[in-house]
Amino acid sequence: MKRSFTKLISGLLRLIGPFIFVIFLAVVNGVVGFVLSMNITIFAAIAILKYFGIAINMSYTLIFTIIVVSGFLRGIVRYFEQYSNHYMAFKLLAVLRDKIFTVLRRLGGAKLDDKNKGEIISLLQSDIETLEVFYAHTITPTLIAIIVSTIVTVFLGIFASWYFALIALISYVIIGFIIPVIFYKHNNKFGKNYRQELGLFEEFYLDSIYGSYEIVSQNRGEKRKESVSLYSKSLLKLNDELEKRNVFFKNVTSTIIILCNIAIIFVGLLLYKKEIIASPYIILAYVTLTSSFGSVVALANLPNNLAMTFASGNRVLDLLEEMPNVVEGKNDILDFEEVKLANIAFKYNDELILNNVNLEIKKGEIVGILGPSGSGKSTILKLLMHFYNPTNGKILYNAKDINDYSFKALYNNVNLFSQTTYLFSDTILNNILIAKPDAKMEEVKLACKNASILEFIESLPNGFETRITDLKDNISTGEKQRLGLARVFLRKPKLLLLDEATSNIDAINEGVILKAIKEYQEDMAIVIISHRKSTLGICEKIYELKDGTLCFKSDM
Ligand code: ADP
Repeated sequence: MKRSFTKLISGLLRLIGPFIFVIFLAVVNGVVGFVLSMNITIFAAIAILKYFGIAINMSYTLIFTIIVVSGFLRGIVRYFEQYSNHYMAFKLLAVLRDKIFTVLRRLGGAKLDDKNKGEIISLLQSDIETLEVFYAHTITPTLIAIIVSTIVTVFLGIFASWYFALIALISYVIIGFIIPVIFYKHNNKFGKNYRQELGLFEEFYLDSIYGSYEIVSQNRGEKRKESVSLYSKSLLKLNDELEKRNVFFKNVTSTIIILCNIAIIFVGLLLYKKEIIASPYIILAYVTLTSSFGSVVALANLPNNLAMTFASGNRVLDLLEEMPNVVEGKNDILDFEEVKLANIAFKYNDELILNNVNLEIKKGEIVGILGPSGSGKSTILKLLMHFYNPTNGKILYNAKDINDYSFKALYNNVNLFSQTTYLFSDTILNNILIAKPDAKMEEVKLACKNASILEFIESLPNGFETRITDLKDNISTGEKQRLGLARVFLRKPKLLLLDEATSNIDAINEGVILKAIKEYQEDMAIVIISHRKSTLGICEKIYELKDGTLCFKSDM
């Protein structure tokens, strides 16, 4: 979604609502820290002036006490500033991730389709980390710079001369605003290009590692090595250019700072000549101004990250503001008896996938849906899972609209078992227990036995405690699917949806799984979709999906 700059900033600022107080603490400590470090330089200058005989109404003891106390306090406030910033940074990461998970729950299963996974992983990793930099290392320095420069400008105006104040103001605006903006405009395109190239290189490099077996067996090793080396050379060139630009920018900033120093000395001398100001004030004003530049110079580094931050911010806000395809209902109670699809039509974007689909599935029935790949079979299951609402028609669970039920009620009854079983980097036991965390060991064993996977698990040296990562390649797709089936048997859904669950495995494993399902079905209703007739052998009723419409096939 395209949003204006102000909408983007206000959207990003809204996210840090709970941290306003922490930001306030970081800013207060940061400002006090700057003032204290300026104190050290200013009072050192006062001591020198006193030594050279300029009348200063302060004892050396007081001057040095102020310097020492300022130094000591500066250490403490600096600690609190850093602490607040890091506290906020880490908490923010957690809060943002939590927000994204909450939104993903709200957006439902459609958002978690394989197609979207890459985008979501990138959101959860790099985008959130980029935003963390913005929140913890951009907002506070900006506020600190604005406050410190305002304090110094007013201080110079009141205690030295408003001419000095004017020079200070102009210097701050040039160093902290005009130069960074020019640099940002000048470098934005290049920086984006560099990051894009870097991303492509990382992808190519990782791909080369993952695909090393294919590369070597196709005798493409040398060629691939050359390409990696060419890629990294061109990246190095871009990196050189980026560094050059950064150095140039830093030099310009330093030059401007020197020019501002000269300007203040020049104006000071002029004011002294016209007897508008006494000599010590020129020196003190000079020292005050130069020691205050640190806060605005910190701003000069921001443009480097800004373009990336805004792109990440836009992506995160897009997700957070996305409207769900479906809204869950309030009814938490569903004891599945039957589901009815009545005159269902469904479109993805503008493409009509299903048209006038009618289907009834009752407790204990096994229904098969046959159809070529891409005909819309999975879409029917996604509608039954309430990932989407039909464009037309109604889905009724126990004669009540699917929209009445909460996701909890629905998923307590309906379970989708698909082509691949995702196994977490955990033990086999915990991987199965995800279906029913409080299950007893006997239940788990029975589920595994019924899924014909118990023998395999018990043959492993660590049995159920074997970690999936330790199995490496010693687990076949068929065994993984049987672990998935053990989850199904443990959970005992009332409506089981099999989305080509056996299409990636050999005929023996397919036979084992289908036989087990039939044998331990009890009163479970089952819908099996497949593009292979042989898979539907256990079905009592078979339909064929043709041109978006379901036809009953009695001749199977
Ligand atoms: P099947 O399960 O029969 O292979 P699907 O139900 O997965 O078919 O897909 C039916 C059609 O809808 C295909 O043309 C597919 O490309 C399209 N499709 C599936 N999911 C989406 C989606 N999330 N957005 C847009 N089109 C989709």
